[in-house]
Amino acid sequence: MRHDIIVVGGGPVGAAAALALHDQGLDVALIERRAAPRAWQANDYDLRVYALAPSSQQLLADLNVWDALAAARISPYTQMKIWQRDPELSLKFSAADAGRTQLGWIVEHGLITATLWSRLQALPCHTQAEIEAAQFDDDGASLQLRDGRKLQARLIVAADGADSQMRRLAGIETLSWRYGQRAIVCHVRTEQAHRQTAWQRFLKSGPLALLPLADGRSSIVWSADDALAEELLALDDAAFCARLGAAAEQVLGAVLETTGRIGVPLQLLHAREYLAPSLVLVGDAAHAVHPLAGQGVNLGFADVQTLVATIVSARRARRDWGSARTLARYARARKAHNLEMLALTDTLYRAFRPALPGLRAALGFGMGAIDRTAPLKSWLARRAAQA
Ligand SMILES: Cc1cc2nc3c(=O)[nH]c(=O)nc-3n(C[C@H](O)[C@H](O)[C@H](O)COP(=O)(O)OP(=O)(O)OC[C@H]3O[C@@H](n4cnc5c(N)ncnc54)[C@H](O)[C@@H]3O)c2cc1C
Repeated sequence: MRHDIIVVGGGPVGAAAALALHDQGLDVALIERRAAPRAWQANDYDLRVYALAPSSQQLLADLNVWDALAAARISPYTQMKIWQRDPELSLKFSAADAGRTQLGWIVEHGLITATLWSRLQALPCHTQAEIEAAQFDDDGASLQLRDGRKLQARLIVAADGADSQMRRLAGIETLSWRYGQRAIVCHVRTEQAHRQTAWQRFLKSGPLALLPLADGRSSIVWSADDALAEELLALDDAAFCARLGAAAEQVLGAVLETTGRIGVPLQLLHAREYLAPSLVLVGDAAHAVHPLAGQGVNLGFADVQTLVATIVSARRARRDWGSARTLARYARARKAHNLEMLALTDTLYRAFRPALPGLRAALGFGMGAIDRTAPLKSWLARRAAQA
């Protein structure tokens, strides 16, 4: 069976890519290694959340899923405060200053994925499918599944995450390193209301984010060196809440209650090429960033927007939309953008490490200075809004 496009990977980025390309009238199929996510229930909770930028909201609205997400559970945030030594010396962003109603939205990973999948029924989805072999040439690609099926397409869109099998099969190399850190993720109830504010403190051991949830709790992403992360994960709930409250300088008062915690290893990864014959990489398959800027899925959604625009414009001009020449435009545009974000987050991460105490101290005071430097602050705000 030959399709126009096969998307490999049905995470948020792959599911959005498959829908967006299908909505353009292309014959699209999707291959996902796991089972399809089940329909989202009101009492489902996912510890993994995303801070969605306005550009991502626009994509989800264009895909006709935003209203369903909003009706289920999203949490707009109107302020962001970033500090190191003293919450009073924080770098502050507010929706009002940016002339907007909100800066972004906190949305659970499982909710986004389940909502996108509810629209995917319109196209062939091969779930619990293992790819055994792949062949790529200039005119198309074919995939051999473990169950013996063979699928062909003009183009494969690889959205199979940071450990991308498609990237490996196409022989694309990566630049990558592990941070030796884990992000501890949980939801907590605090003494004070979060006031629709996203908080981030740069600790010596790594950044700590408190993101506002719709039910009044906060989602925690606490990045810490492996040894400290292990220690924090092993604490009982009361001891963990006390450590977290102190680390956050009680910015929301005491931490009263926590869910279970998970620890996610952190890495930086960038594919040296985004293209191989009849293959294109999107999302974490092309790039993985430290979560400190909350940009991972936003960058992936922006990849999807640029890829779809590139293909649509080539189709309108009756050019071969799957050719390396056409897709090079996508690769050039996204690589430049993604590398800039990778460099920015990596530099921020290193600037606050103990190896650079002078810089760390200067940045601690500098937060307040950046806050008073209107052009720099508005550049940072614009970068955060457009992945
Ligand atoms: C702790 C933490 C916090 C984060 N917070 C944020 C945040 O606030 N904001 C933000 O924007 N980003 C955040 N991120 C990053 C974000 O999680 C990723 O950028 C995002 O999940 C990438 O989506 P994706 O669809 O590209 O890949 P994935 O979510 O990894 O999805 C890949 C999909 O492909 C499937 N798959 C894998 N291999 C195969 C195969 N061989 N065949 C078929 N299917 C396959 C997988 O089952 C999966 O469904 C965070 C990450 C971490 C670790």
